[in-house]
Amino acid sequence: MKISKKDTKDLIKQASILSKALPFMQEYAGKNITIKFGGAVMGEKKLSSSFAKDIVLLKQVGINPIVVHGGGPKIKKMLDKLGVKSDFVDGLRVTDEETMNIVEMVLSGSINKEIVMEINKEGGRGIGMSGKDALLAETKKINITNSLKFKNIGFVGKPHKINTELLNWFLKSNLIPVISPIGFDKNYKTFNINADTMSGCIASSVNSERLILLTDVNGVLDKKGNLLTEISVNEVKKLIKNGTISGGMIPKVQTCLDAVKNGVKAAVILNGKLPHAMLLEMFTESGVGTLITA
Ligand code: ADP
Ligand code: MG
Repeated sequence: MKISKKDTKDLIKQASILSKALPFMQEYAGKNITIKFGGAVMGEKKLSSSFAKDIVLLKQVGINPIVVHGGGPKIKKMLDKLGVKSDFVDGLRVTDEETMNIVEMVLSGSINKEIVMEINKEGGRGIGMSGKDALLAETKKINITNSLKFKNIGFVGKPHKINTELLNWFLKSNLIPVISPIGFDKNYKTFNINADTMSGCIASSVNSERLILLTDVNGVLDKKGNLLTEISVNEVKKLIKNGTISGGMIPKVQTCLDAVKNGVKAAVILNGKLPHAMLLEMFTESGVGTLITA
């Protein structure tokens, strides 16, 4: 094969880009990184395989990724198909027993295994589990209470006890944990957990260096739609109160706040539709989404 001058130039450029990632790789080597793969970005085949490639690359260079996934759009599709109505309160799905069965089937059955196989296809070794496996996520029921409303939203919970034994075991191995946001309560009843909330609890439980929430928007946007590159705890509270942050973005920012309060170094919300969003975030100087630090 003959290599032209232009090709050589391109190849040198490629090598130089790789070389620039070295300090970042050294900084993160051996550290845990928790990544939440949002339902909204999961639909496209190409995105899923490029996401898997990035995850496998992280593991290859000695970083320990943990994947937590959502599945909103797929759950909605299945609920519609089966004619089950579903409501949201403050970004959380109201979950009765019938809904719970469908949610678990879609998350732990279909989506979890899809992501595991994408990772396997790229040469990694994905190991799928839910919050039930080895009692990973013991959960407490959530009720929405504020001065204006009280609402029983059914089998929706928040993890309060994470069994890190199994997780740490996987993290030390060549396996990449892929976790579906399903938990159980003290009576071993099944609970639906918002995937953002789950990822935050997992991230804190293993002292993740970073929590990365991949979604379908560039990060937290202000009223005019401009990206807020960094926000503080107080600002977040104000933005929720005045309605700038709403719906699915509420559990996301709350998760970030809790995570940085509970030992995660930094949390980032960014657009998973950007090609190689994770590599941009981890291995370049410029952050791309919204950064939340303690
Ligand atoms: P995911 O599947 O990633 O959890 P969600 O739909 O639950 O996605 O949450 C992301 C959505 O939050 C965005 O698509 C957007 O519609 C909504 N959102 C509400 N307020 C904001 C805001 N201030 N900035 C950005 N997105 C927001
Ligand atoms: Mg969501």
